[in-house]
Amino acid sequence: MKAVNAFKLFKVVWYRWLTPQNRYCCVCGQTSGGFLPYRGGSRSMPNAMRALKTVGSDLDEFECPCCGAHDRERHLLLYLRASGVWDEFRSADILHFAPEKRLAKLVGSQQPRLYVKADLHPGGDDIHCMDLHSIAVKAESFDIVIANHVLEHVDDDRLAMREISRVLRPGGCAIVQTPYSRVLQHTFSDPGIKFTDARREIYGQEDHVRLFGRDIFTRLVAAGALENRVKTHQDLLADVDSHRYGVNPDEPFFLFRKPL
Ligand SMILES: [Zn+2]
Repeated sequence: MKAVNAFKLFKVVWYRWLTPQNRYCCVCGQTSGGFLPYRGGSRSMPNAMRALKTVGSDLDEFECPCCGAHDRERHLLLYLRASGVWDEFRSADILHFAPEKRLAKLVGSQQPRLYVKADLHPGGDDIHCMDLHSIAVKAESFDIVIANHVLEHVDDDRLAMREISRVLRPGGCAIVQTPYSRVLQHTFSDPGIKFTDARREIYGQEDHVRLFGRDIFTRLVAAGALENRVKTHQDLLADVDSHRYGVNPDEPFFLFRKPL
């Protein structure tokens, strides 16, 4: 473990001060020479995930060496700003599941009317204990619900989407970034796959409980009776150099609206 930490520290120093500063983190606004990989990077990705063309985090360009923001935070922030949803955050009531510390700080800076951070296992006093399967708030309480890379962890994603839809006001939006396979036709899950190694090989990570397939969009829309407003990187961020910004251009913006 110490060797790993020393290697990471070396890479942080290398990227921050010793190489050309050709990367930019939109979360902290700092430049660096590269982003740190997640674990061993894409080389450590299970073969099945590669064969199934799984779209998710960029494992090679994952963590900002300056602020620690992950690629999923950087991409979501770019998507929010480019789509105009970021401006909706002002004066909105926002529910943010599994809030990422750095992204949450920026969301708060938009001065929403109400900003509730929630997690099944809260990591701080300002985070409410809530279960996405049974959100303990009244119907139509929020304008925005954010669950960034959460649906692949919950026992019942369709129930979670129904709950998200229930607590949204008409016209409100659900932002639910989630990894999925571009090859698998149907979302796959089996309760018999309980063990860490099996989950990692079959779902891509030891704490994932399903691998979404190409049906993910219709599945989430149907579960929540929501409108599909999903956009691609090309749709919203065509002028953003994904390499420089350290984001995965294959990852879409999972945006759904509750009908008026
Ligand atoms: Zn950063």
